[in-house]
Amino acid sequence: MTTLELVHGVEITDHNPHDDLLRAERLPHIWCPGCGLGIVTKCLVEAIKRSGIPSDRHVVVSGIGCTSRLPGYLNLDTYHTTHGRAIAFATGLKIANPELEVTVVAGDGDLFNIGGNHLIHAIRRNIDLNIFCVNNFNYGMTGGQFGSTTPPGAKTATTPYGNLEDSFNLPCLVGAAGASFVSRWTTVHVRQLLKAMMRAFQVQGLAFIEIVSPCPPTFGELNRFEDAYAMMEYFRKCSRVDDHADISEIGLSMREPDPIVVGNFVDLRKPTYHDRERELLERIRSQAK
Ligand code: SF4
Repeated sequence: MTTLELVHGVEITDHNPHDDLLRAERLPHIWCPGCGLGIVTKCLVEAIKRSGIPSDRHVVVSGIGCTSRLPGYLNLDTYHTTHGRAIAFATGLKIANPELEVTVVAGDGDLFNIGGNHLIHAIRRNIDLNIFCVNNFNYGMTGGQFGSTTPPGAKTATTPYGNLEDSFNLPCLVGAAGASFVSRWTTVHVRQLLKAMMRAFQVQGLAFIEIVSPCPPTFGELNRFEDAYAMMEYFRKCSRVDDHADISEIGLSMREPDPIVVGNFVDLRKPTYHDRERELLERIRSQAK
């Protein structure tokens, strides 16, 4: 590592302290200026580093979309699967090798639209997965079409007069399906998001984090957010931290002055699929003796 210069006593080097976890040869990334995915990547890399779990036990799986390009920049065992199938793939990995720390990072379209069925059933089974959903309220990669997370009234490429449908409230859906850990932060809440990711790695059972993130060129521009800064400013100004919020009442309108309620809403220890599988195998073995 070479020190290039000192700026106000801070060493500027030609290396990132997390270079070992990044595939620098893949950079620059494909994301638009102002996209929140760089912040999410930074938090995830930092959380993996601080988790105390060896990096060769971390596996990151994604589906299709802007968010799903993220694992490709990580110097870990990562898998870029088909649209909506990241959770099915991750479930197989975890059941085959329960020692792995398996994380799915994907967008709202991949997880809640295309792959919604896999999501609710992984939660129902309480598979020990970490699911980090970056919610930017539209299909960014394909030009900004609406989906099940687009707030009512919001404009997208395919709802130019405003969305007629209600949207999913992600923490409520996931909490109702029975997740062990349910959390929501925005890309402004870097420290809280990092801590939530670290907590997710510790949780035994399905841990879900909704990460509200700016998509300036599609959702932002069509919904009166001048630029990425305006979206981040809205997140900062209108977020309200409330770990005890009633999750059935924290849907998002993405319109000022409506709040974005953030926090760690659910944190439970309950039997996982793997606990039940272990018990069953022990019972079968003891009966066979
Ligand atoms: Fe990010 Fe949106 Fe650009 Fe995709 S389209 S890279 S989500 S800003």
